[in-house]
Amino acid sequence: MNRDELLNEMLQQGFRITEQRKALVDLVLNYKRPFTAIELYQEMAKTFRGVSYGTIYKNLKIFGAMRVIETFAMANEIRYRVIDRAQPRLHFICMDCEKTIPVDFNPAQVQLAPPLRFHTVNYQLDVFGYCADCSVAGNKKTR
Ligand SMILES: [Zn+2]
Repeated sequence: MNRDELLNEMLQQGFRITEQRKALVDLVLNYKRPFTAIELYQEMAKTFRGVSYGTIYKNLKIFGAMRVIETFAMANEIRYRVIDRAQPRLHFICMDCEKTIPVDFNPAQVQLAPPLRFHTVNYQLDVFGYCADCSVAGNKKTR
């Protein structure tokens, strides 16, 4: 979903489209890595002094309900990322620099034995480890 589609859908669902909300949508859609609510809040606060953490959090909930972003846990912290609707992905996530490397993935092509009468609607698959850059830097990856 691009920026205009998202703003349109929010408008149709009865949300007011303020400058602040537009800026928030831009930030979220342009993140190249998973982010936390605090990071987003701090980024927003640079432009919109007085923006509250509650507002940021509420908007993240809305984006989640609209299936624009999804959450996952890393280092005991909830992270958000934009959902790729065209092609669901498997994500390789570096535990050091938090770089996320998406890879095409089709669960139908994987040898799995799904539970009987299970109807799959959505899936989310994350692989945690260390990227090439971080593995080289120090070879410390046994912790
Ligand atoms: Zn890394």
